[in-house]
Amino acid sequence: MIRPCGYVAAMDAYALADLGGQERPTLAQNESAFPPSPQAKAAGIAALDRAALYPDPGWRVLRDALAATYGVSRDLILCGAGSMDLIDTVIRAFAGPGDEVLATSYSYLFAASATARANAAYVTAPEIDFRVSVDALLAAATEKTRIVFICNPGNPTGTRIPNADILRLRQNLKDDVLLVIDQAYGEFDDQDQAPVFALAERGDTVILRTFSKAYGLAGQRIGWGIFPPAIGAEVRKLQNSNNVTIVGLAMAAAALADQAHLHETVARTAALRDRFRAHLVKAGYAVPASRTNFLMIPFADQTAARRTDAELKRAGIIMRGLGGYGLSHCLRATIAPEDVMQRALDVLTAAHAT
Ligand SMILES: *Cc1c(COP(=O)(O)O)cnc(C)c1O
Repeated sequence: MIRPCGYVAAMDAYALADLGGQERPTLAQNESAFPPSPQAKAAGIAALDRAALYPDPGWRVLRDALAATYGVSRDLILCGAGSMDLIDTVIRAFAGPGDEVLATSYSYLFAASATARANAAYVTAPEIDFRVSVDALLAAATEKTRIVFICNPGNPTGTRIPNADILRLRQNLKDDVLLVIDQAYGEFDDQDQAPVFALAERGDTVILRTFSKAYGLAGQRIGWGIFPPAIGAEVRKLQNSNNVTIVGLAMAAAALADQAHLHETVARTAALRDRFRAHLVKAGYAVPASRTNFLMIPFADQTAARRTDAELKRAGIIMRGLGGYGLSHCLRATIAPEDVMQRALDVLTAAHAT
C-alpha cells in the first residue's frame, strides 16, 4: 500500500464552488462582470508568438509596470500563479508544525487550506458585524502565532476596516509575527482608501493583490505582492521558478497600462452592486455594504438559504454557498451584467415574499 504523508492524508481537499455542472451564468467565483482591457487581449495574442520560450523568471516587464503604476519599489514585488500561489508559499515559508496562523472567522478560506499544507494550525478570531475586529485578533494572538492573515476588503463579507485599524493591528502585534494583508479586491476600494503598500517597508508585513478580480484576468493566473526583501527571499525559494505564463505576464502588464479601463470596470461594477443591494434591502434582506465585486446575502436560516439557492439554480444562476465559513444561512453573489442581476433579483424578491 502506498501511503501519503500523515498530515496530507488528514487534510480535506480544497472546497471548490459547486457550479452544478454548469458554466454560465455563475455568480460563484467573483470573476469580473466585464472582460479585461482590449489592450490586454491584444498583448496576450502577440505574446503567443513567444510561446516556445520560457517566461522571464524575474517577471521584469510586469514588475516594472507595477512599480510605475502603484509607485512601489520593483525590488519588493513578487509575482505568483494567482495570489493563491503567494498565500500558499508565504504561509509555508513562515509557519510549520507547532505554529499558528491566525485569521478571522470569515477570512478567505484558502488561507486555511494553505495552513494545512504547511502542517501548521489555523486559528480564527471572531468578526464583529461581519467585519475584522482588531481587538479580537490581538486577544487571540499567542506565543505560537507566526502569521496573522487578514483580507481587506474581506471575502466573503465584502466589508473592510479603515487603514488606521490595520496600522493599530500591526503596531500591537509582536515584531516576530508576519502580517499578511490580502487585498484581492483592493482596486474596488482604492478610490476611497489608499493602498497600504508602504507597510511592507517595516519589514514585517506583506500585501497581496491579484489581476483576477478588477482587472478581469482570473483565467490567466497572475497575482502579485509587496514583500520586504528578507521575507520575499524565503518565499522565492518555495516558488516554482517558472510560475506564470508568457501570455499572462503580457496581459497583466498591458492591463495595468490601461487604467481607464480598470476605473470604468470598477465604476460600472460598483453601480450594479449598489443598485442590486438597494433592491435587496428594500425586499427585506440585511445585506452588508460591500467594497468588492460581490455581495453577501443573509437569509432567515439555513433552510431558507438552501431553498432560495435551489430556486436560483432552477433559474440558471449559481451563487456560492458559505457553509465552509460557518455561514450556511448566507449566499455570496458575484456582480454580473445587469440582465443576470435582474434575474437573480426576481428570484430573491419572490423568495423573501414567501
Ligand atoms: C479571489 C481571491 C484570491 C485569489 O485569487 P487568485 O486568482 O489566486 O489571484 C485571493 N484572496 C481572496 C480574498 C480572493 O477572494
